[in-house]
Amino acid sequence: MGSAALYHLAARGRRALGLEAFTPLHDRGSSHGESRIIRQAYFEDPAYVPLLLRAYELWSALEQTAGADLLRITGGLMLGAPNSQIFQGSVHSAKRYGLRHEILDAVDVRRRYPALHPDPADMALYEPGAGILFPDQCIRAHLSAAAAAGAEARFEEPVLSWAPTAGGVTVTTAKGRYQAERLVIAAGPWAGAVLRDLNLPLRVERQVLHWFAPGAAGAPFAPERLPIYVWEHGDGTMFYGFPALGEGQVKVAFHHGGETTEPETVRRTVDRSETEAMQLHVGRYLPLLAGAPPVKSTTCLYTNTPDDNFVIGFHPAHPQVSIAAGFSGHGFKFCAVVGEVMADLACNGETRHPTAHFSPLRFTQA
Ligand SMILES: Cc1cc2nc3c(=O)[nH]c(=O)nc-3n(C[C@H](O)[C@H](O)[C@H](O)COP(=O)(O)OP(=O)(O)OC[C@H]3O[C@@H](n4cnc5c(N)ncnc54)[C@H](O)[C@@H]3O)c2cc1C
Repeated sequence: MGSAALYHLAARGRRALGLEAFTPLHDRGSSHGESRIIRQAYFEDPAYVPLLLRAYELWSALEQTAGADLLRITGGLMLGAPNSQIFQGSVHSAKRYGLRHEILDAVDVRRRYPALHPDPADMALYEPGAGILFPDQCIRAHLSAAAAAGAEARFEEPVLSWAPTAGGVTVTTAKGRYQAERLVIAAGPWAGAVLRDLNLPLRVERQVLHWFAPGAAGAPFAPERLPIYVWEHGDGTMFYGFPALGEGQVKVAFHHGGETTEPETVRRTVDRSETEAMQLHVGRYLPLLAGAPPVKSTTCLYTNTPDDNFVIGFHPAHPQVSIAAGFSGHGFKFCAVVGEVMADLACNGETRHPTAHFSPLRFTQA
């Protein structure tokens, strides 16, 4: 979110400085791990669809600007029981916004995508426009486009504090002190600390990603044959995965259900029991992966709000400060449009994008 905001500010001719605690593309926050799902028939809430449509435009524009491939369209399957939030919600969004889609039953799914074994009663919405963003490339593209537009980015320079002044803000880092007219705070899982004054109800959640190598059984996992999928099981568990990328490795993960943690103290190693639990799970729903060796696993952080909606808007007490936080495990696909929104707020004091339901005021005005 920070690199996107930096780019959009610089592209408008503003003098913009990005301050990052770690190195570019580090793995201690929320934006690493090879791949992110992008989709439009948003089961969470149709209110996100206009932002998604703009995000697709901006990702595509950034591909041109940066001369890099940032996403791969594979199609996407939203799978679950007929009354599940995933199925119902994605159908609702698709119909409301006239998004291209198909409805499939479990037999269709098994026939078209032999890697997947849904329960007999499961239904799926297939959307042809869904796919995979490559987060490292996306961040690199925003940073290089920002630099080309005149922005400066400083790494390994943690912000220690910030304070409002008469004309703007003062930001103090481990290396210096800066004055600015506006401040954009996009601190990911550290947002609670950087915005301590607001006491936002953010919960940082540890998530684990697993990669398996199907080897000779891998053909049905090729990206030409398997779309991305998000799958809600009968007990409400959410599970998602990708076709095989790179060296034929298949990435799968649970969505939520992780332990509450903090970025400084999170367990960054993955226990054998966690890998075994995932092996059991894929054995049932993607049986071709049953014997596939786990090849790697890693952890990543969600920063959840109580309603799982983002926190985007002005700091309630200091309008020269704007906030992009609480992306609740589904923010990456929006980075490009969030960058535009943050530049709107900082430069114009308003945005044309529908962000009212992300207001920080919903938590600070009890
Ligand atoms: C396992 C996993 C899977 C996901 N899958 C998807 C998906 O498929 N699709 C999707 O859309 N989203 C997905 N997400 C969510 C998405 O990745 C996040 O919502 C998004 O990356 C959040 O970006 P951010 O910029 O808010 O946070 P971050 O990427 O963590 O960036 C915050 C930055 O602020 C810096 N920072 C913090 N404090 C300071 C300070 N004091 N001084 C200087 N710098 C500071 C940090 O170092 C960090 O670089 C997933 C997340 C995870 C963890």
